[in-house]
Amino acid sequence: MAPTLSQKYLSTRGAEYGLSFEDVVLQGLAKDGGLFIPEEIPSLPASWETEWADLSFEELAFRLQSNFISESEIPSDDLRDIINRSYATFHHPQRTPLVDLDGKNNLHLLELFHGQTRAFKDVALAYLGNLFEYFLVRKNEGKTGKDRLHLTVVGATSGDTGSAAISGLRGKKDCSVFILFPEGRTSPIQRLQMITVCDANVHNLAVQGTFDNCQDTVKALFADPKMNAEHHLAAVNSINWARILAQITYYFYAYFQLKKSPGYNKEKLRIVVPSGNFGDILAGWFAKQMGLPADKLVIATNENDILDRFFRNDGHYTKKALGAPADAEDVKETHSPAMDILVSSNFERLLWFLAYQTNNGSTAEERRGHACENVSSWLNDLKSKGGFQVPSAVLEAAKAEFESERVSNDETISTIRETFSSCFPTNSGESSPKSSKTGGYVLDPHTAVGIAASRRSIQRNPGVHHISLSTAHPAKFADAVDLALGGKEGYSFSEILPEDFIGLEKRETRVTDVPAGTTWEGIRDLVIAEVDQELQGQR
Ligand SMILES: *Cc1c(COP(=O)(O)O)cnc(C)c1O
Repeated sequence: MAPTLSQKYLSTRGAEYGLSFEDVVLQGLAKDGGLFIPEEIPSLPASWETEWADLSFEELAFRLQSNFISESEIPSDDLRDIINRSYATFHHPQRTPLVDLDGKNNLHLLELFHGQTRAFKDVALAYLGNLFEYFLVRKNEGKTGKDRLHLTVVGATSGDTGSAAISGLRGKKDCSVFILFPEGRTSPIQRLQMITVCDANVHNLAVQGTFDNCQDTVKALFADPKMNAEHHLAAVNSINWARILAQITYYFYAYFQLKKSPGYNKEKLRIVVPSGNFGDILAGWFAKQMGLPADKLVIATNENDILDRFFRNDGHYTKKALGAPADAEDVKETHSPAMDILVSSNFERLLWFLAYQTNNGSTAEERRGHACENVSSWLNDLKSKGGFQVPSAVLEAAKAEFESERVSNDETISTIRETFSSCFPTNSGESSPKSSKTGGYVLDPHTAVGIAASRRSIQRNPGVHHISLSTAHPAKFADAVDLALGGKEGYSFSEILPEDFIGLEKRETRVTDVPAGTTWEGIRDLVIAEVDQELQGQR
């Protein structure tokens, strides 16, 4: 069968279209700097709500993804197998269980941290690792030596992406993975989760600097002709479309669980998402466009609030707050480091669709062209002038789907505290982070940003069901959790520590220290040398 429009992809900036799923997964970023999106958002079969209600997480993922991946590209049995293997490693039979955090207020928590590295990023990166492997095996069938395609995955991380990417890619043939992390700025557990993986294809680079320095190096490598000529670079951050796609599943899965929960009263539904790069909540927006009956998606930001400011400042998307002095600090360090960003890359994908839906070209093709032009000029202004403003029709379209809340550092800590003393969910499993003595629930700081935002939304919309996404296990962020709960009766950190975190510090480690002052070219040469060495080791 020929691919449908939703199984073909274009760049938000217009230079590429008609691409296959495999092209966009392996390429990551479009050549014009844009992000890949499906040419159309699919609609689901009319009976999905009844027919799909009892599907397993994996089967639901398969039904949803089939809309975006042509069978001629990945046959159904293969796609099922990729999905099944990706989630077999999860620590919970439901993969992403929904917990009644505060039944009286219809507040539900979607636990997304039951994957290998205990962060929601596992949902996408376990799957992406298996996709890379699938495409490589197929491309390299019958080939030997230099004819084989070898991928070099490079990613920068403040902690969660790195460990989840390493976990998803370790031991995969024809694929090396390099993770740059800022030495001393990840949490100790996150660092150990990365450097205790000693597979030959995993390369940890500890950089003296900040996360932004790491990210700048990765961008420079992707833009470098020498690197591209000699190595096929691949991306694991959320610009990769496969990550967004994998995350759509749990929005539907959560909805089905909600409908089965005893407290469900058919009231409306709002979904609250702690956001940084806008990848997670964008998957929610796709789910909503496909027919998920959510009334609003609520963006929860920390003090790095570009998304919140967009909604509060009439559609101005600016790196710095309007009126801020030119030398204002860039990224703030907060208790929720995975959300410490200056700009949210995936917002570009949303803007494209909103521009497409609101512009007045006479044909779909014309509207598509206009949307690409709009997005290109906005993103150029972001680069050259530090920001842009969208037309009011685009802002209104965004407001019809989204609300936003900004949560301060202090509020993050007080939310962890209040939740511990007031929330005793009864339907949570053994692997939920609760105190065994009191049953008080322990939030990680990112999840706490979402819960603080949920509390405000509930005040304005009493009775409405809220599903708040839990993006990490609290044991990954011991400092913030201890700051909130240290000394509290009934709290002990060791009680919430997952088994697989115990004894990590005693394991063998493998990491390359990048000396202070190393240029990006220096890092490039190091990457090339390590790949060569790895490949020689195989021959
Ligand atoms: C990555 C991450 C986020 C932010 O997700 P985005 O898709 O970048 O918006 C939130 N919480 C945790 C724990 C994360 O690791």
